[in-house]
Amino acid sequence: MGHASHSTARDEYYMHRCLELARKGAGLVSPNPMVGSVIVVEDRVVGEGFHERYGGPHAEVNALASVSDASLLPSSTLYVNLEPCSHYGKTPPCSDLIISKKIRRVVVGCLDPHEKVAGKGIEKLRQAGVEVTIGVLQRESEALNEAFIKSHTISMPFVVLKTAQTIDGRIAVASGESKWVTGAESRREVHRMRSVHDAVMTTSSTVIADNSRLTVRHCEGRNPVRVVLDRLLRVPLSSAIFDGEAKTILYTSNALGSSEKARALKAMGVIVCAAGDDGDFLDLSAVLKSLHDEHALLSIMVEAGGTLAGALIRHRLVDRIVWFVAPKLFGADGLGAVGSLGLQSVDDAPVMRFSSSRFLGNDLCIESSVFFE
Ligand SMILES: [Zn+2]
Repeated sequence: MGHASHSTARDEYYMHRCLELARKGAGLVSPNPMVGSVIVVEDRVVGEGFHERYGGPHAEVNALASVSDASLLPSSTLYVNLEPCSHYGKTPPCSDLIISKKIRRVVVGCLDPHEKVAGKGIEKLRQAGVEVTIGVLQRESEALNEAFIKSHTISMPFVVLKTAQTIDGRIAVASGESKWVTGAESRREVHRMRSVHDAVMTTSSTVIADNSRLTVRHCEGRNPVRVVLDRLLRVPLSSAIFDGEAKTILYTSNALGSSEKARALKAMGVIVCAAGDDGDFLDLSAVLKSLHDEHALLSIMVEAGGTLAGALIRHRLVDRIVWFVAPKLFGADGLGAVGSLGLQSVDDAPVMRFSSSRFLGNDLCIESSVFFE
């Protein structure tokens, strides 16, 4: 996507600041992208801003509004991690605003894949005589808005699977007991992850076993939408997940979508949706598509047992896995973090690339991207 031209260490320095600002919108701007913008004159920051909430002004608008001396703008460079928009959305196009303010140069992290933008913002700026540099910290810029980019590329949500497991890959002992596998620091990080994902998805089995609420309690931040997969409508109405603290969507089979229990759930404020199933599983691809298209949920964090993890991986629906690994052993009779993948040959194994690792208290937190051939 684009090429880096005239990129310098200074450009990267200010683009880092854009990314830092953009991240402040995490959890608040979806389904819009996270965007930060910095305005620089002669190596001095004269304005900055970010997209603060969905429907609010874009980063460039906020950055331009923060400049106290508008006479500086014609000699300024505007940095922004995503291509300025060229279409009328909830706000007028930022590229028009930049042109009207006579900004000399614009530095962009990555292009906006949104079909109404996709290079048109850059084109408009260049046609108006603005010098444009694209692709500064492109990889980082694309990574920040990976869910937004996936959504506008293939209309599916970005799926992050989380496991809390022992070093031998177990999430529970044979009895099913699974509380406190990992420590307090890991738990806080899981809550932080919830606060920045659009939704957290789990299964009836996990709700029945753990009675978890899936809300954000161990850190600051807003609750994600909760999604429960319950093909057989087994989840008790008294489950903590139906506490009304956050929007809750339940997917069941087409056969049970209009059942008495489904009606009881709806009466409690739960959004009940029906999806096809194959006799064992709900159609996971259809569920994710529905979450994306009908509920505008672009990033889904999965917190469930090995069965759902295995099924999502088998169906190639996982983008990243975050492994919280405790220095404990549950042995072969414990329950595995990843259920059956139905592999016959080592060559068929999904291949991942580790992207980061760090200690969280006594635990190790490893992130891996999943690549499917
Ligand atoms: Zn804009």
